[in-house]
Amino acid sequence: MNHLHQAFSVRFTYTVFFTERLFETTNPLIADFLAQQATDQTRKKLLFVIDSGVVATHPDLLTSITTYFEHHTGLVDLVADLLVIPGGEVAKNEPAFVEKIVDAVDRYGIDRHSYVVAIGGGSILDLVGYAAAISHRGIRHIRIPTTVLSQNDSGVGVKNGVNYRGKKNFLGTFVPPVAVFNDSTFLTTLDDRDWRAGISEAIKVALIKDAPFFESIEASAPALASRDMAAMQSLVHRCAEMHLQHIAGGDPFEMGSSRPLDFGHWSAHKLEQLTNFEIRHGEAVAIGIALDTLYSQQLGWLTEADANRVLTTLRTLGFALYHPMLDANNSTGVLKGLSEFREHLGGQLTIMLLKQIGQGVEVHEMDADRIRQAIATLKTQELVNQ
Ligand code: NAD
Repeated sequence: MNHLHQAFSVRFTYTVFFTERLFETTNPLIADFLAQQATDQTRKKLLFVIDSGVVATHPDLLTSITTYFEHHTGLVDLVADLLVIPGGEVAKNEPAFVEKIVDAVDRYGIDRHSYVVAIGGGSILDLVGYAAAISHRGIRHIRIPTTVLSQNDSGVGVKNGVNYRGKKNFLGTFVPPVAVFNDSTFLTTLDDRDWRAGISEAIKVALIKDAPFFESIEASAPALASRDMAAMQSLVHRCAEMHLQHIAGGDPFEMGSSRPLDFGHWSAHKLEQLTNFEIRHGEAVAIGIALDTLYSQQLGWLTEADANRVLTTLRTLGFALYHPMLDANNSTGVLKGLSEFREHLGGQLTIMLLKQIGQGVEVHEMDADRIRQAIATLKTQELVNQ
């Protein structure tokens, strides 16, 4: 018998829209998008799942959504029950929330031509994207990210997921959204920690790919720290653009062992777990970037002056670059992050370091003593800077 060979590819396209006050009835963006998607066969339904932190800080949001779809009639059937789920990492840690969304999909008859719309930070988007992906083997989902991190990184990409027994993103899928709506109005209500946290993902991508982008973040760090919206909008736009380019450019579903955009993340993911998720993902990434920057300097790749520029920029933004869990038990906890990072991806351990500002380089091993040395430097510097 001849063997049978199979090969096909699937094309994905989606737009990341930038706007303000998305649900004001005079803003046609989302209505126009839905109108373009309409077919004459069936009316599509829209199930909203919303971050409780967004609802608390935007008390008119639920009414605005309802009013918007009353005004823009004939497009879709809005499910009147707007689900609100606790925002933050708890959304990904608590399995009952996946079930709550799947249950709503079932109860309200959301089929694969309908939409699940997530409004919230990266945690809620990851949760909702996952629940949508596994319901009926994949319901279209629309993302409306509301934090800096989700607007410039997680919300514009193709990954979703929840944590399993404390392990970050252990359950998840690769599924692109059908559209992303970045509304900068949401960013005005972030607390300072969440405003700052997402900037670390922009620094990460700039450091490994784009020196001029790093220079612009370095120059605008004081403005960003004082919550200048124009500076933030420009950072979010460039960072989102770089993420989209990266995803389209090579290995969108991470089939290989390399995950360049995870510079600084091997320790960050572990640190989140070790601190019981008390530090934000972006705060952990800032520490991870600092650690791998010092490690790159030790290897003789990054000059001391450039390493200092990185650390100074992070500190100007207000990031703390040391956490006691880094060197607890002779750093055994955080070092475990290396093997877990490899396991998550499979294949060979592949870690991104810095050859210079704007140029990442991959390595396949890291030396525990050098890591401890970098941690010790961060600890000493943090004491001096206090
Ligand atoms: P988050 O979603 O955990 O939200 C942080 C807090 O901000 C929560 O309390 C939330 O309720 C609140 N909040 C959200 N929007 C708000 C607003 N507009 N105003 C006031 N409060 C608001 O934080 P995050 O940094 O957006 O996301 C972190 C998560 O994203 C982590 O779980 C991380 O692993 C994940 N992530 C995923 C990817 C990916 O590719 N899928 C990439 C990077 C990070």
